[in-house]
Amino acid sequence: MHGLMMDTQLSVQLILERAKQFFPKKEVITRQANGNHRYTYADFYQRVLRLASLLQQLGIKPGDRVGTFAWNNYRHLELYFAIPCIGAVLHTINIRLAADQLTYIINHAEDQALFFDPSLAPLVKQFAPHLETVKNFIVMDEIPIEELNAQSYEKLISEQPTDFVLPKITDENMAAGLCYTSGTTGHPKGVLYSHRSIYLHSMAICMADMMGLCERDRTFPVVPMFHANAWGYPFASALVGATQVFPNHFMQPRDIIQLIEQEKVTVTAGVPTIWLGIMALLEHENFNLENLRLIVIGGSAVPVSMIEYFQKRYNIPVVQAWGMTETSPLGSIALVKSNLLSLSDEEQMSYRVKQGIPAACVQIRAVDDDGKEIEWNGEARGELQVRGPWVAKSYFNTTERAEAFCDGWFSTGDVVAIDPEGYIAIVDRTKDLIKSGGEWISSVDLEIALLSHPKIQEAAVIAVPHEKWVERPLACVVPKPAYSEQFDKEEVINYLKSKFAPWWIPNAVEVIKEIPKTSVGKFDKKRLRIMYQDFQWPVG
Ligand code: AMP
Repeated sequence: MHGLMMDTQLSVQLILERAKQFFPKKEVITRQANGNHRYTYADFYQRVLRLASLLQQLGIKPGDRVGTFAWNNYRHLELYFAIPCIGAVLHTINIRLAADQLTYIINHAEDQALFFDPSLAPLVKQFAPHLETVKNFIVMDEIPIEELNAQSYEKLISEQPTDFVLPKITDENMAAGLCYTSGTTGHPKGVLYSHRSIYLHSMAICMADMMGLCERDRTFPVVPMFHANAWGYPFASALVGATQVFPNHFMQPRDIIQLIEQEKVTVTAGVPTIWLGIMALLEHENFNLENLRLIVIGGSAVPVSMIEYFQKRYNIPVVQAWGMTETSPLGSIALVKSNLLSLSDEEQMSYRVKQGIPAACVQIRAVDDDGKEIEWNGEARGELQVRGPWVAKSYFNTTERAEAFCDGWFSTGDVVAIDPEGYIAIVDRTKDLIKSGGEWISSVDLEIALLSHPKIQEAAVIAVPHEKWVERPLACVVPKPAYSEQFDKEEVINYLKSKFAPWWIPNAVEVIKEIPKTSVGKFDKKRLRIMYQDFQWPVG
């Protein structure tokens, strides 16, 4: 039966109009060198209309992709709304990629215009001559850059009317956003988000058992706006009228924590490496974090020590979330269900370090090598598959990895166990598992343990070829500064021996200065594997 309910098309426009209509006095705050920039959603709305008008004047049509190459700031937020609200596609581009990758991505997306932060102009200069479709370069600043033929954002929008009428979004399934995955194999691949998926994903983030974003919150996504839409925070925050705080390019641990303190941030989110840096700083300096009610950490596995640190010292819950660019990104979250609260702290922690139960609307299953669904007994392992209204149905304009989308499910490439309570535990990425003598060793489990060692700052475990066992684990660790001079590898091995079966114990520990990071700030194990491909195992 059709037509039971009104036919409201879910859209980014609905989010924008709601923010302006009901929360016009709430603020958007951006860190700047000369004091924080702040304005209200009412001011924001006026500028979004001017920008939307400009986009139309530039000839941007529904369905056209428009690139943004920027830090987390208020102008980027304006683009987040103006582009989809005229029916075009917001393509957020990763500012940490190399010039040739950026050329590939922008040409593949066929971006018609490129908006970029002035601080990124040197990089834009490198790839601009190779772009095939970009007709307009606009620098997000007051001053144009002649060399790039880039017009000034502020000048252009100041010439636009504030009474521009947004075209109606008549189909919620229209594309609204585009983001390329960091692509560990093959080319980077694009994922298109629709108006509907963005709206539903925003609602999911705001559910109490997810991140519970609400009007009283002051949100601060440390995760970049080019990494899966800053995990949906800008849209979800506007939907509920939360105050939004952005760090701009001030991304050092001290900058981040100062902004959290100054602006009384209540919810923040980022990858574990960010929090490792912040924990190192908090060891030596005091900050007032009393307004922070939730730290969401995801993108890589979260060590116990990180959860305990913020809980015990600051009484702030750390909640782990799992997701992917392909899943918008919210897939699952590790809240402890009330029926588990009678368990000991240690047993509860064993749930908090898992990747959690899926968000409402997201369905999960895991399949073994024969394609058979595994049992949810916490032991059996298989590749996680997901489906849901904000999970991609295919990659954009490519047949690469088309096999990942099959029977209405998306194969994530994450190897997991699922327990009887429905909690997912990521054992590894399929390509990071260590195959030792026909048995699998989880690099993630070893890393989590290493990162909880009091003398270790960063750690990654990789497979290195081994004559007898095919592969064996090699632990690469960065000691905390206080221990860098006298770091005892044997102590680390003994520590692991107390936690894992003997055959899981890495055959060697390499002490290094820094673990290479990916463009979204995760430990880059692909690069580590290349660095150690000719590693000679110690004899004996
Ligand atoms: P990306 O699309 O770049 O965000 O990468 C997605 C991948 O990050 C997933 O497939 C996982 O392998 C990994 N990932 C995301 N969240 C977590 C988490 N909480 N724990 C472990 N791995 C994670």
